[in-house]
Amino acid sequence: MKVVLATHNAHKVAEFQQIVAATRPDLEIVAYDGPEPVEDGVTFAENALIKARAAAHHTGLVALADDSGICVDVLGGSPGVFSAYWAGQKKDAAANLELLLDQLHDIADPHRTAHFNSTIAMVVPNGREHVVVGNWPGRLAREASGGGGFGYDPIFIPDGQLEGEERTVGDFSDAEKQAQSHRARAFAELVPLLAGL
Ligand code: IMP
Repeated sequence: MKVVLATHNAHKVAEFQQIVAATRPDLEIVAYDGPEPVEDGVTFAENALIKARAAAHHTGLVALADDSGICVDVLGGSPGVFSAYWAGQKKDAAANLELLLDQLHDIADPHRTAHFNSTIAMVVPNGREHVVVGNWPGRLAREASGGGGFGYDPIFIPDGQLEGEERTVGDFSDAEKQAQSHRARAFAELVPLLAGL
């Protein structure tokens, strides 16, 4: 089955392709290259639905869209839906990450908890819509580490590491990230819904 992925973020396309290849190799994921809708929703679900509806409408295919971000507890869940442009509309990943580290400069480790959220909308051209969510809990590092992944990966230390290990997602291999990320967790929720199509 062919599924269109409504994102212009090349990192997300690559990650989805790796996740799908490992779990649903029968799905063919194609990247959406049609007009980009304005993401004016105020929740991950609203923005994911806006993107998936546009792609389903323009392609006539089953469309998936992920809206995602990092949610920091001490900031009341921000940056959240503003993650891509936390430091301004130029969507500068390095500036976003520096600003977040600066804001948490005086915050002690026990209060640096955060999670990545991936909310995936699936829109079927017949009008059916589903939304699934994957969360990846962890905490923020004090400085960036590692060259892997994208966005906030170099400052996010996921929970569940071995005693004494404090690696950021930037230190993870692609396979390691894709085995446990928020996006993989959301996709796992989607698998039974895809099977029902
Ligand atoms: P979106 O493309 O509008 O959903 O924006 C997502 C933003 O959240 C990205 O630009 C990143 O800043 C951040 N983000 C989402 N997923 C990840 C991830 O897997 N690693 C690092 N940052 C992420």
